[in-house]
Amino acid sequence: MTDDDRPTIRALDDQTINRIAAGEVVERPASVVKELVENSLDADANRISVAVDSGGTEGVRVRDDGVGMDREDLQMAVEEHTTSKISDINDLESGVGTLGFRGEALHTISAVSRLTVRSKPRGGDTGRGSDAPGNDAGTELRVEGGEVTDVRPAGCPEGTVVEVEDLFYNTPARKKFLKTTATEFDHVNTVVTQYALANPEVAISLEHDDREVFATEGRGSLESTVLSVYGREVAESMTRVEHEPDDGPVASVTGLVSHPETTRSARDYLSTFVNDRYVTARVLREAVLDAYGGQLATDRYPFAVLFVDVPPNTVDVNVHPRKMEVRFDDESGVKSAVESAVESALLEQGLIRSSAPRG
Ligand code: ADP
Ligand code: MG
Repeated sequence: MTDDDRPTIRALDDQTINRIAAGEVVERPASVVKELVENSLDADANRISVAVDSGGTEGVRVRDDGVGMDREDLQMAVEEHTTSKISDINDLESGVGTLGFRGEALHTISAVSRLTVRSKPRGGDTGRGSDAPGNDAGTELRVEGGEVTDVRPAGCPEGTVVEVEDLFYNTPARKKFLKTTATEFDHVNTVVTQYALANPEVAISLEHDDREVFATEGRGSLESTVLSVYGREVAESMTRVEHEPDDGPVASVTGLVSHPETTRSARDYLSTFVNDRYVTARVLREAVLDAYGGQLATDRYPFAVLFVDVPPNTVDVNVHPRKMEVRFDDESGVKSAVESAVESALLEQGLIRSSAPRG
């Protein structure tokens, strides 16, 4: 190779670095929805409404009645690596009680979209003196491609509404990877559904192109949440799973599973949560399917909403923003706990036979 055709190594400019980093966190509209809903949950919201246009490719709006932010918080929130959730690495070690803590979501979303946030602190008092201007109003902040373009007082209800428009308008390579409206909406729907199931005490609704897809009541019951999300036929076919380990606590397992004949051809309806976090784990999926023995038709999958609780030090939850995988120290112990919990629930209802061959 001659000097001439050897590639030159150069430093990337900040804007390029920012946009590349953004692509790591924000892959598609559903990733925006996930981050915003997590922020609303962390903000102690009782009500969260998600509305998306064209599968989220044209717009995503998440409104909550959470603690809100004042003008200063709001300006901080969209900066890089700003968070109210941890202050140093020790907080990370001691276990994180909140969903987000990397302090990068709003910043990265704003780098690849046109973002508007309107917010007003709960209780109407900013704690910064009652004569401060704009104290009883909220604040509106606009950011375009990572640059703050406007901050002004705005009348709005307590809580926060985040609007993301023109996602990836400045990263055409990323935009090209977006799938059809239907596929992008499926991803959004899956995300919002999981958070709704995991948080029955929060009223969570989803709208697509101005039409309501579902709305949960937020009254705290898993049954009524399943009814709102999956409809009557599925809700009525659900059986309670309740399993407290008696000794050597490997895992406690609670939730709902469907009648072996209430199935779909996709696995999307097997929802598993480990220590309240939505995860996808093959071992959990297999445990559920094995519990049904030979009672499921070929290539059919039941509905399940299962909460698996294990001691935090026995599970490794990968905290990468886009991954939802877990690894258990005692994988086979967890598997048999889940399998036997589901199996005994189904047996009790006479939905499977005890002699059912293991599939
Ligand atoms: P992280 O969630 O990791 O802290 P984000 O960029 O998602 O990082 O948010 C930055 C900060 O902005 C949060 O720590 C929180 O203080 C504030 N914030 C974001 N969304 C909301 C919201 N919906 N309600 C109240 N505060 C919020
Ligand atoms: Mg966050």
